[in-house]
This record gives sequence, structure tokens and C-alpha cells, in this order.
Amino acid sequence: MSIISNSLKRIKPSPTIAVTQKARELRAAGNDVIGLGAGEPDFDTPNNIKEAAIKAIKDGDTKYTAVDGTPALKKAIVGKFKRENKLNYSTDQITVGTGGKQVLYNTFMATLNKGDEVIIPAPFWVSYPDMVLLAGGKPKIVKCTEQEGFKLTPKKLKKVISKKTKWLILNSPSNPTGAGYSKKEIQNLSKVLIKNKKVNILSDDIYEHVKYDNFNFFTIAQIPKLKNRTLTMNGVSKSYAMTGWRIGYAAGPKDIIKAIRKIQSQSTSNPSSISQAAAVEALNGNQGFIKKRAKAFKERRDFVVKSLNDIKGINCLIPNGAFYVFPSCKGLLNKKTKLKTDTEFVQKLLVKSNVAVVQGSAFGLDGYFRISYATSMENLKKAMNRIKSFCESIN
Ligand code: PLP
Repeated sequence: MSIISNSLKRIKPSPTIAVTQKARELRAAGNDVIGLGAGEPDFDTPNNIKEAAIKAIKDGDTKYTAVDGTPALKKAIVGKFKRENKLNYSTDQITVGTGGKQVLYNTFMATLNKGDEVIIPAPFWVSYPDMVLLAGGKPKIVKCTEQEGFKLTPKKLKKVISKKTKWLILNSPSNPTGAGYSKKEIQNLSKVLIKNKKVNILSDDIYEHVKYDNFNFFTIAQIPKLKNRTLTMNGVSKSYAMTGWRIGYAAGPKDIIKAIRKIQSQSTSNPSSISQAAAVEALNGNQGFIKKRAKAFKERRDFVVKSLNDIKGINCLIPNGAFYVFPSCKGLLNKKTKLKTDTEFVQKLLVKSNVAVVQGSAFGLDGYFRISYATSMENLKKAMNRIKSFCESIN
């Protein structure tokens, strides 16, 4: 009998981490691979944040803290929601975890019973379905097309809600498409949710601060009738280039926050005390970094979208946030190219042209691929040339 548990057999390793690992291996073997698979900003953590961490170490801020976050960090998070989202929370409505990923995982472990359904609009972040499965829940994937801007429509939402629906996940701006929901679009989805009265909403706002073209970020907890059914997850990873520090947080109903704390108390306990001190500075300190970085990302986005749309067989929407594009490669899946699927496309691209991207099917929508442009302009220029030559060579 296998030593591995049945619940673990329900899930698969993260495909985006797998691509990054594959690119790393090929590079180690001497290949000049350009990795466009990683979901992490290439910028360094701002100095004021690093200094706060060094100070924490020197001050002996190196012991266990409260399980779900220090009072100072919870206060900073309360301040962030008030300042940036006009949302009022008390500190007992806040939880801090080791990355947004842990907060999401704990949420599902704390709230899902066997058979509970979680609505996940596709394309989705790869970890949602597997986390739900691990917790015994049932992912209900709703495909959102390119024509719909890769966004959930009220009609599709209404259709998929059942008596077993526990959560709806919304992620705006989105990984992998970069699509952001406007206030109007969120209001329209809200009408369905207000009518339904039961569905809880998990809003993953991790890309809140990576946005372009005056896109006005709006989060569903700002709809007063839905605030007490919404858990809003956010973190410092993407906003402040702090992926390695592992600090994420959520705000929402006290009973859910308390349940998350219970799980954390019996698993990891508190996130790193030093990272928490750094996160306080990230949230309370100078916010200039966000604007400066957004400008650099916008230049890259514009370059990548234009370069892709210049390639015959590729079509790419202009995203209004995050650092990903999600182009279609359907125009290249045919008899002439001998490619049938997006997976074959990305595999051949990696082997023939040394560019690592992730197939759309990993995110729940076939016929597409994801490019992360969180890398230097120099790399992007090289990568776009290689993708163009590759597509021309097969077409
Ligand atoms: N949510 C989305 C959509 C993400 O893309 C990520 C990271 O890639 C996370 C959550 C988790 O981020 P972290 O655990 O670094 O806070």
C-alpha cells in the first residue's frame, strides 16, 4: 500500500513552478534559456524595507510573535485598507500568513466540507483548484473567453451557483491574463451575489498595485451588502517586490479569521518576525516605489503586446494589470505546423528556441500561453525575436 495519502493524490505539482524548474535545468546544462514563466517581479525589495528588517534583527525582534501577526503589522494592514480601499476593519478581522498562498490554503482548510463547491473563473491561478481539492472541496471551473476579456459574466455566475456553493474566487487584476474587473463589472456580479445571499467571496487582490492606463482598482468588499461575506486576500509579494519574504494577509469576517488562526497555530505558527517588521515598513513607509515600478512594467507590457500581435498566428489582448499577457496560439495549431495543443506549442518553443512560457491549459483555458514580463527589457527583446522566428519557422 502506498505511503502517500489519498488527499495528496488528488493534486498535482504547480505547473508554473515546474516550467521555472525545467528552464533552470536547461540553463544549468549550458543552454541559453530565457525564462518567462516566473510570477515574480525582477525588481529588488526597496531599501527602506530592507533596513527595517535589519533593524528588527538588531533590536532582537527574533522571537515567536502572535500566531496570525504582530499588533504593529495588523495595525498597518488596517491602515492600508482604510487608506487605499476605504474599508474599515478592526484588528481582529485581520490575519497574517506566510504568503498569500498560505492564507488561501488555510481559508479552504478552515471552511470547506466534503463536496462544498468553489467557483473558479478560468483562466485561473494554478493553485486554486488544487488547494480546493486538497481541502476536500469541489472546484467548479467556469471558462471565461477571450471575447469576454477572460472575465466572469453575471449570466455565467448565476448559472453555476448551486446549493453547495461555498465560495466564489475573484482575482483582479488576474494571474494569468492581467485582466482587471471595473467597478461596473463588479457591481454587476454583485447583483447576482446579493440576490443569492449565501455565497462567500474570496477576493484575491495580490496584484492591486500592478496596474496601467488609469485602471481604477475596485474590490468587491467595497460593496456594502457583500462586505460581511467577503474575505479579501492581499500581500506584499507583488506590490513591494517581496516574494521571498513570505508575507500575505486577509481581512474579513471574525469567525473565518479565528478559524484560520486555529489552523496556523497547529501548523506553521507565526510568519517570520523579521519579515513582518519589513512588511510594516512596506505598508506604512514611502510608496514611491509602486509608481516607479509601474512605469517600467507598462513599457514592457506595451512592447510585449505589440511584438506578439505582429506575429502571424498569435493574438494578444492588452491587459490592464499584473505582469502577464495571455496570448492565443490557436492560429498556430493546425496541420501545417503539426501542433495540436498549447502544450505542444510551448514544449517545442522551449526545445527549439530556448524560451520558457506556460501553456494556457495549465490555467484552465486551452489554446493560449502565459508570458510573464517581469524580466529585463533586454531579455524581453531577445525572447520576442526568438518567438517570432520560431512561429515563422513552423508556419
Ligand atoms: N494569488 C495569485 C493570483 C498569485 O499569482 C500569487 C503568487 O503567484 C499568490 C496569490 C500568492 O502570492 P504569495 O504567496 O507570494 O503572497
